[in-house]
Amino acid sequence: MKSIGLLGTKPAIIQLLKEEERESFEGFEEESERNFQKLRFARLRILIGTIVMDRITKAARLMIVSDLDHTMVDHHDPENMSLLRFNALWESNYRHDSLLVFSTGRSPILYKQLRKEKPMLTPDITIMSVGTEITYGNLMLPDDGWVEILNQKWDRNVVTEETSKFPELTLQAETEQRPHKVSFYVDKTKAQVVMKELSDRLKKRGLDVKIIYSGGMDLDILPQGAGKGQALAYLLKKFKNEGIPPVNTLACGDSGNDAELFSIPDVYGVMVSNAQEELLQWHAENAKDNPNVIHAKERCAAGIIEAIGHFKLGSNSSPRDIADFVECKVDHVNPGYEVVKFYLFYERWRRGDTDNCETYISSLKASCDSW
Ligand SMILES: [Mg+2]
Repeated sequence: MKSIGLLGTKPAIIQLLKEEERESFEGFEEESERNFQKLRFARLRILIGTIVMDRITKAARLMIVSDLDHTMVDHHDPENMSLLRFNALWESNYRHDSLLVFSTGRSPILYKQLRKEKPMLTPDITIMSVGTEITYGNLMLPDDGWVEILNQKWDRNVVTEETSKFPELTLQAETEQRPHKVSFYVDKTKAQVVMKELSDRLKKRGLDVKIIYSGGMDLDILPQGAGKGQALAYLLKKFKNEGIPPVNTLACGDSGNDAELFSIPDVYGVMVSNAQEELLQWHAENAKDNPNVIHAKERCAAGIIEAIGHFKLGSNSSPRDIADFVECKVDHVNPGYEVVKFYLFYERWRRGDTDNCETYISSLKASCDSW
């Protein structure tokens, strides 16, 4: 993949723009303040948009695509132990050459709220609003290509107009209404009839939509090409086109809308031990003979760690499970591992929970000297 530095030159930036965008830079004069700002913005957009791929110059060793609520995040674990164990494992062993993708039904606002409540890592890629939004990095820059795909046979105004004719539908909170997702509540006794009629009406208006009913109350209307599974397939295709498809991909989920993730070819899957009946039933009917999808014995993030070990995708030994770092020897030491080790040592030291403080500090100094 081509990349440019922060101070990339004008020709380098323009070369990376789409053809139609390039035209707007014809006759460009850098001295003009307006043009300079325009170029600056284009450069920033390209930089951030490629930031994930620039970091991964080779195929990612492992791409984990995980649902959040009741999968990565255990709402019944007030100390967040399984999440913290996963975080330490990822930062020490995978961050430098692998990709972490969160795939959630949450809208950006509710996703950001969860990040304030739970000690989650910052993922490389975030898929939100039931696969209708893909963003990159900490700045959460949207994927323009995905937006273009979702715009096909989709018109939000027509959806709003047609749904207003159904008194059975109650609009969900404003935060849940997104450019490619319109969400309602509907009583389950009326859901099937409403879905059928609505589907026919929208088809007549020239739209191609997907209507998802879940949890016995939520009705989401999305473009046909949207969904957690399609968003993952899109990302895999994108990496393949760049010549860097992930070596291994592991999808992780607990509920019905995660089933799509397990339907993508060449993807390993883990249903965490606490998976809902609807997902287990889907698995029994559609994937029970697929050895690449397992039902873990462990809950949430611990189930993800279990799957990494089961499928032999890499180390599944979290530094949080190591009692004595001085005794612990790893095959491939990397800076990430040392940082996590130091952080955990500091945490234990603050608690007065370390016996061999001096020995550890000597060992840390020796590691630093060897770099
Ligand atoms: Mg979930």
